[in-house]
Amino acid sequence: MTMKSVRQTAIATIGKVQARGGAVNYLDKDVRDVYSEHVFNESVQRQRLPKAVFRQLQKTIKAGAELDNTIADAVALAMRDWAIEHGATHFTHWFQPMTGNTAEKHDSFVTPTPDGEILAQFSGKDLVRGEPDASSFPSGGLRATFEARGYTAWDPSSPAFLLENPNGATLVVPTMFISWTGDALDKKTPLLRSMEAINEQTLRLLRLFGNTTSNRVYTTVGAEQEYFLIDKHFYLARPDLINTGRTLFGAKPPKGQELDDNYFGAIPERVLSCMAEAEYELLRLGVPIKTRHNEVAPGQYEIAPTFETANLATDHQMLTMEILRKIANRHGLVCLMHEKPFAGINGSGKHNNWSLVTDDGENLLEPGETPHSNAQFLTICAAVCRAVHKYAGLLRLSAASAGNDHRLGANEAPPAIISVFLGEQLSDVFQQLAKGKARTSKKAKAIELGISMLPKLPRDAGDRNRTSPFAFTGNKFEFRAVGSNQSVAGPNTVLNTIVAESLDYICTKLEAAIRGKTDVNAAIQKLMPELVKEFAPVLFDGDNYSDEWHGEAAKRGLPNLRGTVDCVPLLTSKEIVALFKKYKVFSRRELVSRQEIILENYATTIGIEAESASIIANTMILPACLRYQADVAAAVNQAVQAGVKDAVQLKMLKELVETISAFKVAAEALDDAIAHESNGTALAHAKFMYKTVVPVMENLRTIGDKLQTIVSDNYWPLPSYNEMLFIR
Ligand code: ADP
Ligand code: MG
Repeated sequence: MTMKSVRQTAIATIGKVQARGGAVNYLDKDVRDVYSEHVFNESVQRQRLPKAVFRQLQKTIKAGAELDNTIADAVALAMRDWAIEHGATHFTHWFQPMTGNTAEKHDSFVTPTPDGEILAQFSGKDLVRGEPDASSFPSGGLRATFEARGYTAWDPSSPAFLLENPNGATLVVPTMFISWTGDALDKKTPLLRSMEAINEQTLRLLRLFGNTTSNRVYTTVGAEQEYFLIDKHFYLARPDLINTGRTLFGAKPPKGQELDDNYFGAIPERVLSCMAEAEYELLRLGVPIKTRHNEVAPGQYEIAPTFETANLATDHQMLTMEILRKIANRHGLVCLMHEKPFAGINGSGKHNNWSLVTDDGENLLEPGETPHSNAQFLTICAAVCRAVHKYAGLLRLSAASAGNDHRLGANEAPPAIISVFLGEQLSDVFQQLAKGKARTSKKAKAIELGISMLPKLPRDAGDRNRTSPFAFTGNKFEFRAVGSNQSVAGPNTVLNTIVAESLDYICTKLEAAIRGKTDVNAAIQKLMPELVKEFAPVLFDGDNYSDEWHGEAAKRGLPNLRGTVDCVPLLTSKEIVALFKKYKVFSRRELVSRQEIILENYATTIGIEAESASIIANTMILPACLRYQADVAAAVNQAVQAGVKDAVQLKMLKELVETISAFKVAAEALDDAIAHESNGTALAHAKFMYKTVVPVMENLRTIGDKLQTIVSDNYWPLPSYNEMLFIR
């Protein structure tokens, strides 16, 4: 079978594919009963736990009280019975190692006894602590081999749930993953630590503003996930997609997203039935999926949940990615989560909506109804702006990966320069507060913090700046640099910590002023000009894609860290080490190890891409091109033999031969670059990949894509962009 027929067969088969239905039936059980049916949630806990145990557990979950180990046995027993009644045979500690994926190892509930009986076992100890044989997870040197084992520890704040497979179910217990020396080996542990830090500093500020009722402040997160769906037949014919998640070759299709006819367009039925089944599974797992729509590019979609506390939202986000991949497969589709699966076509991000909410339900980024709450709102907004300005590089770093470099470092949304969009009214308020005698824009009356009202701030989506990497959107900030393939744990850990630092800074100043008998509103009014002057350079409401902005940002001293390798060294700088240490989020050791892991991951990713590109070039594209060259040469030769010597056709042949040769030379250059990769430090290794291998690989691609436009389609071995994006 020639490669052409692989493509032809794929297209013919896809033409007959019907949307898959029947997996979901909301008539037998309506959506309200489906929601959370596979979660050991508060209502199940209330039903099944002894009263005292239930109360104790809720205290741990809601108020962050230390877990009372004596209740673990009772909780485990109830969980086990609930799980087995729902068809589970196994349990697993589910964690989020530094691979960026989730990890699980299943243990059976049943254990044989010496007298031949069988016992269902799951004790408090099994619930609270696990010891996965996890020595091959990346630890960045944290676990020397003699202490190669880490352990998993139950996170009661994220409820256990059941994951079904076609032949049973598993009880899944969300856990942290820690080394025996107490170092975090995962993404959840630092996130939980950062939530403690911001809780403490925000409560401190709330008390200054006279709040005596709130006992806890949570960060809330709603992450919008972008992704592509393509037919599995095409995927299987693309070794680059299989190995790297993105296409390493592929000429731009004649029709891309230029017509803007895809965004919010009607969702194709096959895709919609896939989405609906994924959402059904997610709803059962208690993931509050809210929206679905077509995205900008053909074949691109978005799914978003209702926001939850950062920890739960992060777990649910990981589940969302897993379930999307799994269900897509059932529909003969493949879900591409890579930030840039198709060059020249809109990439995929994960907009991270972030806010602060008190346990008594106040959203602290909601402009208030009273002058008093306005003062508090403006102070917290100022704290966020100051944090983003002061730690712009770190925030950029929190979204860094080889995949995301294609968005942030390239001419796409959003840029690598971190700036804040506040919108016209709010910017105006801050600018006027900076002058010391603020006036509302409309009434030209002085804004006195704690006394006067804010102008009405718009919450209309049409009014938002879509190009900004960090935008205030009415009652939350939206961090848009996060990549579609990333866990949101890292970005939120950074956000929580840097805002905690800002709040700490502001509280310290306010407390000093109050000790000197100034009232809080007067104190913040006095502090505000200084704050605004500090963070003003980070405020930008204009077009973030424009060239002028790059120049302007440089003048303002804002960092423009284009690639992962450009920003990683920051992680172990004095300032950042001190920051994380102060708020007990990361120790220096942990930061050093994470830096190592990011660099290794970057170098490995580029290494795999480079080798895949070389193999595809040498074993698929070149042979196809040479076959076509032989055809053209034979045809031209026959014409010459017949006495027709046509200059145009000779030139065409010459161009073809030259382009193919140039392609071969470029492939050799890539092989050469890969072979020269040295054994230096992780940083040196990553730099080599970034500065040497990436450009050589790009060059190979450019010539390959040109060949695709001149070589007969009959011979081309790889499904085209046109086919992958439009045929389903
Ligand atoms: P869009 O930004 O696309 O216009 P929405 O305003 O509906 O859409 O919000 C997108 C995401 O922001 C959703 O996941 C939503 O739950 C989340 N969100 C809304 N309010 C908050 C909040 N207070 N904290 C965190 N996320 C929030
Ligand atoms: Mg949004």
